[in-house]
This record gives sequence, C-alpha cells and structure tokens, in this order.
Amino acid sequence: MTHLSAEQIAQWIAGQRPAEVELHVESCGQCRGRVTGFEEVMAQFRSSVRSVPAPAPVWRARRTAAWPRLAAVAAVALLLLVPWYREREARRRAVIEQQYAQLLQQVDAGISQAVPDAMDPLVKMVLWNSNEAQK
Ligand SMILES: [Zn+2]
Repeated sequence: MTHLSAEQIAQWIAGQRPAEVELHVESCGQCRGRVTGFEEVMAQFRSSVRSVPAPAPVWRARRTAAWPRLAAVAAVALLLLVPWYREREARRRAVIEQQYAQLLQQVDAGISQAVPDAMDPLVKMVLWNSNEAQK
C-alpha cells in the first residue's frame, strides 16, 4: 500500500478509518506522523474554539467590568463635586460671616444706644470716678 493520500488523512481525521488505512497508519511512521500532526492541529483548533468565551461569560464579564467603570465615574464626579462643594461652602460661610458682622454691628449699635439712656448714671459715676482719680 502506498502512503495515505490527503483525502485518506482527512477521512481518518473525520473518523472514517478503514482497516487497511488503520493498518498502514500502525505500520508506517511517516503516515502516522502526518495523522497525529493533523490530530494535534485539530485538537488545538478545538481547544481554541472552546476558549472563545460563550455569550453568558461575556455578559458576566461585562457586568463585573462595570464596577471599575462605575468607580471611575464616581471618582470623576467626586473630583467635580468637591471643588463645587468647597466653593459653595466658602460662599455660605461668607454669607454667614456677613450676617454675623451685620448682627455685631446691630448689637454694637444697640449697646451704644442703650448706654447713654439706661446706664447714664453708671457712666456718669465712672466718668466722675476717673475724674476724681485724675485729681
Ligand atoms: Zn505511509
């Protein structure tokens, strides 16, 4: 028997293994090498096909991959919000300080108004005492 033809090797790979071909593969190292070489290539091809992700794992991978992206979005949002919050807080503090200053002015004005009327005798006494001390 001559060496196996390409067609016979293809049939062998496909599972069609007539007894005479099987005998030749067993006896002929050259044809056995070609057949096993093809089988290895086919096995590698099959495993590479199997390693291609199925739709479900892809979906799951995309879902888990959404978390780092969500974290990145949150980080960016935080980076944008923090200066905005700080600015707003500073503006709010400025308003409070202004209101506080106005309140202080009102209190100050109230005190300076109250002193001459209600505390007039005391003021006079203090002034009189200090005048006495100067003498
Ligand atoms: Zn052969």
